[in-house]
Amino acid sequence: MPVTMLMYHMIAVPENAAEARFCRTPDAFRKDLEQIQQAGYQVLSFATVLDGVAGKVELPDKAVAITFDDGMACAYENALPILQEFSYPASVFVVSGLVGGYNDWCKVFGFPRRRMLTANEIRALAGSGVNIGSHTASHRWLGKIDKVAVSKEVRESKAALEDILGQEVPHFAYPFGSWSPVARNAVIEAGYSGACSTISGRNRKGADPYLLHRSEIKGDDAPWQFRLKLRFATNDMPPISDARRKLRQILEKWK
Ligand SMILES: [Zn+2]
Repeated sequence: MPVTMLMYHMIAVPENAAEARFCRTPDAFRKDLEQIQQAGYQVLSFATVLDGVAGKVELPDKAVAITFDDGMACAYENALPILQEFSYPASVFVVSGLVGGYNDWCKVFGFPRRRMLTANEIRALAGSGVNIGSHTASHRWLGKIDKVAVSKEVRESKAALEDILGQEVPHFAYPFGSWSPVARNAVIEAGYSGACSTISGRNRKGADPYLLHRSEIKGDDAPWQFRLKLRFATNDMPPISDARRKLRQILEKWK
C-alpha cells in the first residue's frame, strides 16, 4: 500500500508572520502524532519506505513517515521529546554548512534569526534513533545550478555529516524541492540510496527512490486538514468555500 511522507520544517511557535507557514507549534505537532496513532497508521523509517517502494518489504495498509527539513535546533529541543512520547521514527535533513550556525538563508524571506542544530545535537538525535540525512551544504536551488556545483553540494554535505556522526548518511532531501535530472543523477553518483522531493502524493511500490513524494504540513493546518493530508498526501488543502464553489461548477455543467 502507498506511504504518505510528511514534511515539517520547524516545531516551534512562530515569531512573526513570515515564518508562520513553516512553524508547527509543539501542541499542534503532538496532536498530529495523536491523530496518526488514533487512525491506526504505522510510522515507518526512511529506510523502510525505501525497502517498500523497492518491493523488498510489504508496506502496511496505513503507513506514514515523518521528515523535517533544514536541521533547525528545534528538531532537538522541541520535536525529539514529542517523537519520543510516541516512540516514532523520523528523519531530519541537515544543511551541513550551517551546523552550529543560524538560518541565514531565510533572512531574505523575512524570517527571524534562529539557531541551527549543533554537531552535538545531531549526534544526540542520531543516538536517539533519529535518521540524519543531508539537505546540501548551503541550501541552494539544485535545479538551477550547474552539474559541478550540484555535485559539490551533495558530496560535501554527505562527507561533513558522516564526519560528525561516524556513520553513513544515505538519505537526501532537495532544498526548496528544487531538482533536475542533473541534480537527481548527482545525488545517485554521490552514493545516496534515496532522496525526497516536495512533490505531493503517496509513494507506491515502484516509485522513484530519488524523488519520493511528500506532503507539507503547514503551521496553520487545522486538525481536519492534517487528517486529509495524512490520507491523501496532498500539499494544498483548499478552504471549504473553494471546494464548494468547484463542486457547484461541476454540478452546473451536468445540468
Ligand atoms: Zn530546506
